[in-house]
Amino acid sequence: MQDYVHFSRFLGTSKHNNLIAVFHRLNPSPVYLEYNTWTTFLRNCNDKKFINILRQKRLIIDSKQTDKNYFKAFKELIESNFRNSSILYLILTKQCNLECNYCFIRHSSKVDRDKLMKPSIAKLGIDVWARHISGGFNKNRQYFIIFYGGEPLLNLYTLQKALEYIQLCQNRHRLPRKNLNLVLATNGTLLNRKIAKLLKRYNIKVSIGLDGIKNVNDYYRKDSEGNGTFNRVIRAMTILRQEGVDIWISSALTPYSIRYNNRFINILERYKVDQFGFNILRGKTLPFLKRKTERYHYYKMASDFIVRFSRSSEISKIYERQIEERLRLFKEEKFCIIDCGGCTGQLVIHPNGDITNCPLVSRRIQNLTNTDSKFRIWDTSITKNWQKRLPLYNKRCTSCNAISICGGGCPWNVHSISRNIALRDNSICVLNNKVFEDWLWTKQRCNTNIYRP
Ligand code: SF4
Ligand code: SF4
Repeated sequence: MQDYVHFSRFLGTSKHNNLIAVFHRLNPSPVYLEYNTWTTFLRNCNDKKFINILRQKRLIIDSKQTDKNYFKAFKELIESNFRNSSILYLILTKQCNLECNYCFIRHSSKVDRDKLMKPSIAKLGIDVWARHISGGFNKNRQYFIIFYGGEPLLNLYTLQKALEYIQLCQNRHRLPRKNLNLVLATNGTLLNRKIAKLLKRYNIKVSIGLDGIKNVNDYYRKDSEGNGTFNRVIRAMTILRQEGVDIWISSALTPYSIRYNNRFINILERYKVDQFGFNILRGKTLPFLKRKTERYHYYKMASDFIVRFSRSSEISKIYERQIEERLRLFKEEKFCIIDCGGCTGQLVIHPNGDITNCPLVSRRIQNLTNTDSKFRIWDTSITKNWQKRLPLYNKRCTSCNAISICGGGCPWNVHSISRNIALRDNSICVLNNKVFEDWLWTKQRCNTNIYRP
């Protein structure tokens, strides 16, 4: 090998049959070649044309310092996004009318469980968030206010008051109008036509919990009397469709649904859902997982299922949220900065006015009633600590092929399982590596990009 050739430490490779893909881990736009051609190149490095290609992709560099400078600039660019807020959660209540076996809210939040958020707290929360995003809304950013629970429709009164107040703030230009998304995360069982009309009036998107076809959904999603929720949710979806409300589906992936949920696509098609996402179960609040399924095995099965399901749903142009987001990153050659809003400026307001950076964390950062006008959640030690665990600061992650689509997963999941927030989130590692390999070896991509000397 000629001694002036320095390979970047971000050079990643992946072998598949007789081909190898070579790419920059931070900005993968792969070049494919025969595996034998690659090994020959590594031995003598005398193919000038290929050297030029690798130089353009920053895979061959002048010196180690080139890599260091690039990585430093890259991190600074990423860090410039940390002082931003795009999500406000208002937890209207932690009460729920259902008793789904796997519910992590039910298992995690013991504080404040029976309280309903008062309208005055919702307004204060909106004011604090408005201060976080003041100084020019970013037209290219999507903002979200998420009404969350428990079951938020158990506190319809505060929901209505909050909606009126949001509209008032928009009229006074204190909140964005076009790119502000209002989302109700509900189990759907309390929805009726009157509520659907209200939701339509305020252009709220409804994110409904539905795990799959009837027997799959009703296996875990039950009310306190043990009755399944499927029929009630379908009735709610019918009403929402009739009233023209956007429907998002949020679907928990249980070991049971992974095995028996292939016909779920029919429901998504029939109700023309606008968005849907699978949720890999999190935390150690999953007693059935400990007993029946080894955790890593479950993550693998869940990831395989998501990718398989997404391939089949592509035909109907219904895209799974996580896959769609990762494909967008590949397409736009962008780097995923964070997976979890809690690492930047996400604001969560609990029913008693406590502020946290994640809906599942109950240890408050502050309470709204004693928050001064300078409070910004991204300046707090918890948010800064969570940032430190992002893949860019983890040596093992910087040598991971899937780092560009990662964002670090869910800190709460890691903490809940291991009590050590610095560890990686294995659920996301398995999914990302699966998605990355799948994308890398799509026939269409690798067949049209093969380098021949
Ligand atoms: S820690 Fe996990 S549950 Fe909490 S906001 Fe982040 S991704 Fe969501
Ligand atoms: S968390 Fe996992 S998938 Fe993400 S960059 Fe690190 S090793 Fe890769």
